Amino acid sequence: MAQNQILSVRNLTTSFLVDGEWKSVVRNVSFDVGPGETVAIVGESGSGKSVTSLSVMRLLAPDFSRIEGSVMLAGRDLLSISEKEMRGVRGNDVSMIFQEPMTSLNPIFTIGRQISEVLTRHKGMSNRQARAETVKLLEKVRIPNATARFDDYPHQFSGGMRQRVMIAMALASKPKLLIADEPTTALDVTIQGQILDLIKVLQEEEGMSVLFITHDMGVVAEIADRTIVMYRGEQVESGPTEEIFHRGKHPYTRALLSAVP
Ligand code: ADP
Ligand code: MG
Repeated sequence: MAQNQILSVRNLTTSFLVDGEWKSVVRNVSFDVGPGETVAIVGESGSGKSVTSLSVMRLLAPDFSRIEGSVMLAGRDLLSISEKEMRGVRGNDVSMIFQEPMTSLNPIFTIGRQISEVLTRHKGMSNRQARAETVKLLEKVRIPNATARFDDYPHQFSGGMRQRVMIAMALASKPKLLIADEPTTALDVTIQGQILDLIKVLQEEEGMSVLFITHDMGVVAEIADRTIVMYRGEQVESGPTEEIFHRGKHPYTRALLSAVP
């Protein structure tokens, strides 16, 4: 079974060194993301959603964190490869977008330059090829006047447009897996809907797998094939989204569902 998965997480347990003691904040989380599938992780603030995704990406300070279990991405255990190999994985196989796109964009470089760099560095393109491909990516995420906007800086984009830029950058490496950590939470409601629609369309066009993190059950209903509910660092429920909605058993799942309008 697990062999056909893009991402296969088993018994993921992540601990942090806090005041000289190891404290686990994610415990025994296991899930799969299949080809072309969107899996949501839902849970309240502090339940361990971001730590789970950062553990998959190995983006936690090694001296202060311990990640146990296994994280198989396309057949490789990301927890046992070198940091150098992991950088290659981040540049090629898996991309991540975050809640606030400004934190991932460099304010002093144009967005065109930042996306092009992914292509020259990881895909071996010439500057000219990278420029043409970047414009295509900006068009793909429906940024109007893509050619002209190549030379604009991050602050010249609205929040929603910046998130589109981030998605374009994440797609540049043609990842097998896109991890989206609350990518719409900081946006206005109408813009949230547009970004969700965009991710859905791209997911179909590109055939990539998506791990979508949110605290919002409404968003889960919109986007996810399967859903994992996290509560206080533990996975309290997982299954097809329909089933979670109709037959979710854990009291916390029921509470989340009662908040959906
Ligand atoms: P969520 O994304 O679900 O809101 P997080 O995964 O960010 O929650 O955090 C889960 C728990 O881990 C929280 O209690 C948070 O305070 C704690 N935590 C997150 N990062 C660190 C860290 N670097 N060091 C210590 N504790 C952390
Ligand atoms: Mg979070």
